[in-house]
Amino acid sequence: MPVSGRPPYDDGNIFARILRGEIPARKVHEDDHALAFHDIAPQAPVHVLVIPKGPYVSAADFLTKADAETVAGFWRAVAEVARKLGLEDAGYRLLTNMGHDAGQEVPHFHVHVFGGGPLGPMLA
Ligand code: ADP
Repeated sequence: MPVSGRPPYDDGNIFARILRGEIPARKVHEDDHALAFHDIAPQAPVHVLVIPKGPYVSAADFLTKADAETVAGFWRAVAEVARKLGLEDAGYRLLTNMGHDAGQEVPHFHVHVFGGGPLGPMLA
């Protein structure tokens, strides 16, 4: 079920559990600001999720509550993920779903990184 309304952060969500090491993930990158891992149901040849380490429900939550260093560190990690995956030359797509109408399923802010071949008009 997509996230409804503007829920408080729930630290039982699946990405919080991945951050705590309670469930496995195929990690691509980790630093002080972010963790990146392969999506369990890839929608492109490369489909990776990048999440901040703090408790943010959505992009709006993250961008309004996190301090500037945390925001910058997160987006630098996204760029580093694309570099590590070899996506820089061919290009890639970043996407974040926010709330019910966008179909956000997991209430921990995440950026989808799609690449590895020509992408259709919409994914996720
Ligand atoms: P949607 O499922 O509509 O894309 P989101 O934007 O909230 O909604 O994306 C959640 C993403 O998390 C999905 O792409 C889903 O495949 C992925 N996902 C769910 N559980 C896991 C998991 N345990 N490990 C990796 N990816 C996961």
